[in-house]
Amino acid sequence: MTEKCDSRFYKDMEDIYGAHNYHPLDVVLSKGKGIWVWDVENNKYLDFLSAYSAVNHGHCHPRILKALNEQAKKLTLTSRAFRNEQWPLLAKELSTLSGFQMVLPMNSGAEAVETAIKAARMWGYQTKDIPEDKAEIIVCADNFHGRTTTIISFSTEPLYRKDFGPFTPGFRVIPYGDLDALEKAITPWTTAFLVEPIQAEAGILIPPDGYLKRAWEICRENNVLFMADEIQTGLGRTGRLFACEHEGVVPDVMIIGKSLGGGAYAISAVLSQREVLGLFSPGTHGSTFGANPLACAVAREALQVLQEEAMIENAAQMGDYFMARLQSLKSRHIRAVRGRGLLIGIELEPEAGGARRFCEALEEEGLLCKETHEHVIRFAPPLIIKKKDLDWAYKRIKKVFKELD
Ligand SMILES: *Cc1c(COP(=O)(O)O)cnc(C)c1O
Repeated sequence: MTEKCDSRFYKDMEDIYGAHNYHPLDVVLSKGKGIWVWDVENNKYLDFLSAYSAVNHGHCHPRILKALNEQAKKLTLTSRAFRNEQWPLLAKELSTLSGFQMVLPMNSGAEAVETAIKAARMWGYQTKDIPEDKAEIIVCADNFHGRTTTIISFSTEPLYRKDFGPFTPGFRVIPYGDLDALEKAITPWTTAFLVEPIQAEAGILIPPDGYLKRAWEICRENNVLFMADEIQTGLGRTGRLFACEHEGVVPDVMIIGKSLGGGAYAISAVLSQREVLGLFSPGTHGSTFGANPLACAVAREALQVLQEEAMIENAAQMGDYFMARLQSLKSRHIRAVRGRGLLIGIELEPEAGGARRFCEALEEEGLLCKETHEHVIRFAPPLIIKKKDLDWAYKRIKKVFKELD
């Protein structure tokens, strides 16, 4: 068998039997440890995407694996028909860490967003006298909140919507970063404003300074819930526990997911004060796998490790360091470098030929990252990364920009 034979084998099989709803780089991974991953031919790569920030703790973190294995041997699934000993502990620990009084656990990010939408509507009907079926939620253009039919109903990306209608009503789209538009969009029937503090999928778009703070105030003045989707930006990625903290904003509803599962398990959650999540009563919402003891044990350890290994502080320091290095990168292809903490995007000029070819060239150099939309390369390494590894990465990035110039 030739060298490439192995990954070819898997790629062909996947393309025949698997639905083609992704366009992955043609690297077939079989092993991961910390910031590194290996493909089936045993080539080693630096993971500069971290599964879209789900692997913030690095791959196969020993403490998280230990918690997973120990819980797997004890009890894995009960459903919510019965109680289990892990969920109450996670709920309390998450509440203590975040400052929110209540937690509603789900599995995927999209489910948590759906939960937040239901919570906001319920809050609206029960506290604001909005007529039945008239509740409105304001969202931003170029948002990414997941892939369910309701969530794509308020997406502005044609690819996400085409052929998937009819759509769920009750959403108003305004431009991201536009406070006037927010004020004008609010009606007596508005129950919430749902926003990403940084639009990661849209190309690491950071709103103008003061935007989140003022948007939060506008929501407060109008008795509208401010709901932050921090599935990607939360739990340390931007150098703070939550990205909203950069503007001192405490949302009414916080949505988290991705790295809550420590890179090992799917778990998401909605957090709020009692006023909102306290409205759910038995039977109004649920999930068979939500709050399963395996997920909760893993999430508890992931939160412990996040704090004890000072990953948030590391994200802040390494983020500043790497941003400064990237800003010194000279290339006619680069339009802008922007980011916060270890969530960084390089926006390319339209003439650069798209971000994909840069990502493919970086893969050849042993650095795995992914384009987001057409012209932005996203860098989001695990939060455990060290200076010397960033220097290693920088060397490769510099080389690729020189070669493709
Ligand atoms: C990934 C992501 C989601 C969706 O999470 P899934 O687990 O893929 O359903 C929602 N919002 C944001 C901001 C995300 O980054």
